[in-house]
Amino acid sequence: MTTLVWFRDDLRLADHPALTAACEDPEGIVALYVLDEVSPGVRPLGGAARWWLHHSLAALRDALASRGVPLVLRRGAAAEVVPGVAAESGASAVTWNRRYGAEREIDAGLKESLRAAGVDARSFPGGLLHEPWTVTTRAGGAYRVYSAFWRACQERPAPAEPLPEPARWSPAPRQPDGEELTEWGLLPSAPDWAAGLRERWEPGEASADERLADFLRLDADEYASRRDVPASGATSSLSPHLRWGEISPRTVWHRALRSGADVGVFLGELGWREFAWHTLFHHPDLHRRGLDPRFDAFAWERPDPAEVGAWQRGETGFPLVDAGMRELWRTGSMHNRVRMVTASFLVKNLLVDWRVGESWFWDTLVDADAASNPFNWQWVAGCGADAAPYFRIFNPLTQAKKFDPDGAYARRWAPDSEARPEIVDLRATRERALAAYAALSAR
Ligand SMILES: Cc1cc2nc3c(=O)[nH]c(=O)nc-3n(C[C@H](O)[C@H](O)[C@H](O)COP(=O)(O)OP(=O)(O)OC[C@H]3O[C@@H](n4cnc5c(N)ncnc54)[C@H](O)[C@@H]3O)c2cc1C
Repeated sequence: MTTLVWFRDDLRLADHPALTAACEDPEGIVALYVLDEVSPGVRPLGGAARWWLHHSLAALRDALASRGVPLVLRRGAAAEVVPGVAAESGASAVTWNRRYGAEREIDAGLKESLRAAGVDARSFPGGLLHEPWTVTTRAGGAYRVYSAFWRACQERPAPAEPLPEPARWSPAPRQPDGEELTEWGLLPSAPDWAAGLRERWEPGEASADERLADFLRLDADEYASRRDVPASGATSSLSPHLRWGEISPRTVWHRALRSGADVGVFLGELGWREFAWHTLFHHPDLHRRGLDPRFDAFAWERPDPAEVGAWQRGETGFPLVDAGMRELWRTGSMHNRVRMVTASFLVKNLLVDWRVGESWFWDTLVDADAASNPFNWQWVAGCGADAAPYFRIFNPLTQAKKFDPDGAYARRWAPDSEARPEIVDLRATRERALAAYAALSAR
């Protein structure tokens, strides 16, 4: 028999349980990636994510090729492509690592149809520290409070040790034809806006591995004290590598613990990632609907295109907001503290529906994922799990004084911002937001 391993958001060779299982097949493997933009429930990728995906697939393709295995690239609905490629290659088994959002319906359907056709379809845990159904409240439901969730995770057996890269590689004799990556048009061309992304990032498993090693060696010990300072560069920058599965959370977890550095707070941040994904598992429509149903009736302002445009371009006249939005546009990323400040500015000072901001981040972040992005937007808006209370309105000027006291971050990304007129009055818009919230609370 031959085994088909289906790569998804797990573009790596190490700690890839589905790949390890496939490589045990003495008849060899076929490695497949499907660009599925058409199946029901699939959210089309944003521009920055497409850029990352292109380079990450190129890195995976090269890594597999150097081990003698081609990466077969196909486009289309997974429910048709996967059984088709299995049939073309004579595969009697298909393996994959699990997904936890809306796509899991596709996977469940596929598993059923493959098995009905006599193909041994098997799924494995690969993207989280704990499977979502293993961390539930006593009543069997989802946790809504982070501290209780994280305590429950820690009471469970430790995350499994990461698997090494498979030792034995054997390509199946029948390798189906694939498409050319360059034909997929994932990279921007007219205009090519990705120069800043190329400067900032190197997608791929090797680079993820190096990033983790550098972080643990150079920054981990001071992470707890410096992580909130955007100019410090003290955080790990692992989020896009984790997003695309170029490194597994189990690998990050165990290597961090073994490093001997002071990693408690850092591991707690991995806990937030875990919490976001478990929340998505229980609420697959996280980017559409607030967990707090009262927000369905919230009195958002009709978005003023001039104000939203100024926010997107980083031209609000508030240096910390402008610096963050320009860092995002240029590099496909933004420091966490500044994500909170810019999101709060949109949702509270401009009173714009959080979904408008979530969509912009979805399009522009290289780490945009189906869980962390809507989860954090809901957190800022006050309608999500363990959310910031609505009346907590980040003041971009006070936040700048506290976290960018010498203005280094603002000067780097938006040196002209201070001279711009402020597009809103912070005090008046704060009062407006509080009044809208009071009306909601009274319902
Ligand atoms: C409005 C908003 C939108 C966000 N959208 C995303 C997103 O689409 N994708 C994403 O990965 N993160 C998102 N975050 C969370 C956070 O900003 C990024 O994970 C973090 O900035 C990545 O930088 P880092 O890798 O240096 O993080 P580090 O501080 O080094 O943290 C280590 C890892 O922990 C995880 N993590 C840290 N904070 C969070 C958090 N609040 N929620 C979930 N995971 C976290 C990430 O995987 C990160 O790589 C968002 C935050 C906000 C406020």
